[in-house]
Amino acid sequence: MMKKCSVKLRITVWLTALFALLFALLLGLLIAISSMVITQTAVSQLSDAVLENLGQIRYKDGKLKLSDSFQFYQSNVSTLVYSSKKSLLAGQIPVSFTVDEPFQNGLTRIVDAGEEQYYVLDMRLMAGWDDGVWVRGMIEVPHSRRVSANLLLAALVLLPPFLTLAAFGSFQIARRAFRPLENITETAQAINEASDLSRRVGMPCGNDEFSKLADTFDRLFERLERLFEAEKQFTADASHELRTPVSIIKGACEYAKKYDETPQERQETISMIYRQAARMSALISQLLNMTRLEQGTEQMQPQFVDLERLLFDWCKEQGRPSNRLILQLQPQTVYANPQLLLRLVDNLVENAFKYGKPDGHVWLSVSRSGQEVLLQVRDDGIGIPEEQKDKIWQRFYQADTSRSSGTGAGLGLSMVKQIAHILDGYMTLESVPDAGSSFTLHLPAQGHDA
Ligand code: ADP
Repeated sequence: MMKKCSVKLRITVWLTALFALLFALLLGLLIAISSMVITQTAVSQLSDAVLENLGQIRYKDGKLKLSDSFQFYQSNVSTLVYSSKKSLLAGQIPVSFTVDEPFQNGLTRIVDAGEEQYYVLDMRLMAGWDDGVWVRGMIEVPHSRRVSANLLLAALVLLPPFLTLAAFGSFQIARRAFRPLENITETAQAINEASDLSRRVGMPCGNDEFSKLADTFDRLFERLERLFEAEKQFTADASHELRTPVSIIKGACEYAKKYDETPQERQETISMIYRQAARMSALISQLLNMTRLEQGTEQMQPQFVDLERLLFDWCKEQGRPSNRLILQLQPQTVYANPQLLLRLVDNLVENAFKYGKPDGHVWLSVSRSGQEVLLQVRDDGIGIPEEQKDKIWQRFYQADTSRSSGTGAGLGLSMVKQIAHILDGYMTLESVPDAGSSFTLHLPAQGHDA
């Protein structure tokens, strides 16, 4: 039954039960102490009164004399004086004391006198006459039960408001403690129901367990959102961009079925289909690369990279003529993933040749400027008009379709920009139409200025 209740309710019930138990224990303790104190007080009142009265007894001229300060009844104690033969000389036996109690010197005891109980203390005073006198003090044993009953009554009156307060307080504490958890649940529910991945728990940073949990959830939501967006983008891009080559292929096939007669005509159609298929395949792999970058699913651990070494080796593999791809390298170290760096350089150099003059040049240089390492790809090609300088970084944007058709799909530079961002750097562009362009990657430098 308890397991079905919320944790808040369970905490409240447990705390309230604990408070009730504490209350009962406290009450028991209070009753025990109070009855002990009452008994002690009665006993000490008895002995005080008897001792005090003892000092007030004189023997003068062979006669017993009680001074004026002798009190037969004081603080509920009745004092009596008996002769050595146990006959009452002075004082009045309380009415309810109906028994004949033998004398015992100096011993306080409880005497059962019918309906009541008495503490009785006898003191024998030896003096010059006979065998002295007996002084007897007696006090009713206090009814501690009455006190306990009063205490219990007070407790019964106090208990309900106390327990209500305890339950209310516990519930408030539990509610406050669990509020962050409720926020997390609410956010997760909202994401689930409304498919709104942009929602966050947004708890202020803290060191407690809930803040850490909320932070972990927020990061999880962020990652989910990124993955989801990248997936959406990929699907949209892929379906948009693949539509053209697919319809070209379909059209070419239909045309070939009806009109292609000679082997040469068929050969031409097959070549066209092949070109479109190659374009589709390049496009898909480029899109996949970008999606993986966006999703962060690719393992791209950064490391210290000497750019001079990395680019020199890469150039050797490219096999481009050294009079067209000119290296101007310096030994500069950056902290980056070398595969990503090369993917960026590859795209820029590819473009520089693609949009360069037929026998133009491309300069690949590395230099240092203050706290930045600059990796530059410059060409003396067609250049980029001012109004297109911002647009070329967008996905699928192609400024000069006549020259780029067949190769690329307008994704290269948007990937370059994305990589620069992942590497903690940024791109700049300078370009003069018909004179050439210069793309520069700015990366934070590692180590001292060379
Ligand atoms: P793609 O090369 O596939 O068209 P990119 O994203 O790499 O796609 O480039 C986008 C556009 O930017 C290109 O279509 C081209 O017009 C322009 N561009 C890129 N690099 C250069 C360059 N070095 N010189 C002149 N124009 C360029």
